[in-house]
Amino acid sequence: MGGTFDPIHHGHLVAASEVQAWFDLDEVVFVPTGDPWQKADRQVSPAEDRYLMTVIATASNPRFRVSRVDIDRDGPTYTIDTLRDLSAQMPDAQLYFITGADALAEIFTWRDASELFELAQFVGCTRPGYDMDEATLAAIPSERVTMVEIPALAISSTDCRLRTARGEPVWYLVPDGVVQYIAKHHLYTASGATASEQK
Ligand code: ATP
Ligand code: MG
Repeated sequence: MGGTFDPIHHGHLVAASEVQAWFDLDEVVFVPTGDPWQKADRQVSPAEDRYLMTVIATASNPRFRVSRVDIDRDGPTYTIDTLRDLSAQMPDAQLYFITGADALAEIFTWRDASELFELAQFVGCTRPGYDMDEATLAAIPSERVTMVEIPALAISSTDCRLRTARGEPVWYLVPDGVVQYIAKHHLYTASGATASEQK
């Protein structure tokens, strides 16, 4: 499951847990992005902070782990590179790429989109506020993409950042350890990365 995870929240964790159970996956590998080219319009928190929050959030689940492949690769993150690196590390694994409906809708803007489907089965998770339009659904090879309905959690990292910047709580939207990490490292405070998002 790729993501910026800035910060990781319970929407991500529920989606991962549901898909793990649905497909009886051996493990879910969370892959925080390096330099996300889709998000060039805002400053993303340091990769190390996003990585550590993801580790904190997933540590107690024996079927969850976190990979550094994207944050250790130089340059912008492309999902095609993520899948190539993971399949080189686990040549016998059958890969599933877990994504929310919003990200899946943009899949054809991703680099080497058609090759993506050769490297992994794609799993599109429903997400409150985002519906896949008919044209996008029709263009996706149905044997390579499965849509999974997950319990609706209208949580986004953007909202968590804005809430923190406004001094509002993020308790219960993100795991307790992530609440504490954000406070300890003064992430998302009004003077920092999120200032432009408040306008
Ligand atoms: P941002 O607001 O910064 O874009 P986000 O909440 O969308 O953050 P990302 O790190 O961009 O989180 O998302 C990683 C993946 O998780 C994406 O595929 C996204 O669609 C999916 N996802 C995020 N939140 C949810 C949710 N509440 N329910 C289902 N899928 C989600
Ligand atoms: Mg997003």
